[in-house]
Amino acid sequence: MIDTHTHCTHSHDSKEQPRDMIEYAIARGLEYLAITDHFDGELTLLPEFDNIPQIDLARHFEELIALKEEYKDTIEIGVGIECGYMKEANSIYLQQLKGYATDIVINSVHTVEYEDCYLKSYFDKRSKRQAYGAYLEAVRESLDCPYVYDSVGHLGYVARKAVYPDKTFYYADHADLIDDILKTVIAKGKSLEINSNGLGETCPFLPTAEILIRYKELGGELLTFGSDAHLKARICDKYSIVAEFLKSHGFEYLFKYIDHKPVAVKL
Ligand SMILES: [Zn+2]
Ligand SMILES: [Zn+2]
Repeated sequence: MIDTHTHCTHSHDSKEQPRDMIEYAIARGLEYLAITDHFDGELTLLPEFDNIPQIDLARHFEELIALKEEYKDTIEIGVGIECGYMKEANSIYLQQLKGYATDIVINSVHTVEYEDCYLKSYFDKRSKRQAYGAYLEAVRESLDCPYVYDSVGHLGYVARKAVYPDKTFYYADHADLIDDILKTVIAKGKSLEINSNGLGETCPFLPTAEILIRYKELGGELLTFGSDAHLKARICDKYSIVAEFLKSHGFEYLFKYIDHKPVAVKL
């Protein structure tokens, strides 16, 4: 098993020590664990998020690189980061990540039109079509960012906290835009992330099944698995559900990232 997306205490919203996560991952039999804490550079440009503490990059990389070395004979540790995309934050990521040795960078959209799409206020003023469409436009834009990234985080994230009676993210509602995103991910040689922090029982992972099937139809192969665990007990959560789904739809591999190179892991 592998997990390419997790958060430790270096993220403002996790209290889990990286060493405890690694020990847990070893006990669960993982061969690879990436720790990809939040780098929310975009929030430093939005005054209403002043209260959200920013990652200490020097400490993050120093600690993870030391742990990677310490555990190298037992488990492969991916030193990672999750960048919160916003066009105006491009130069922050370009400049501040320079010089740090990362294995995997996840590019994720959390803010849309300068608003946090995790907050109810984002949905209050938009129809479902507008809310999801604007999110997808931001994801499409994020693919062209100038900094190095490897996987596209949790496509469909906007639906997690949506307040509509049916919050399902339907491919047909935004088919052209989703196709454009998937084709661009493929053309750029990036991975699409399957994030097992989904939308509950009916949708255990993101992107939704129909979007993953479409990705395959378009020739997509590179996929990462990320639990998005903020607690060690969620590491590799729903891995078997995802693996069964992928195998039944013709996918044979997931990918882990070492020094930004995708390495196939047989399902
Ligand atoms: Zn995220
Ligand atoms: Zn995350």
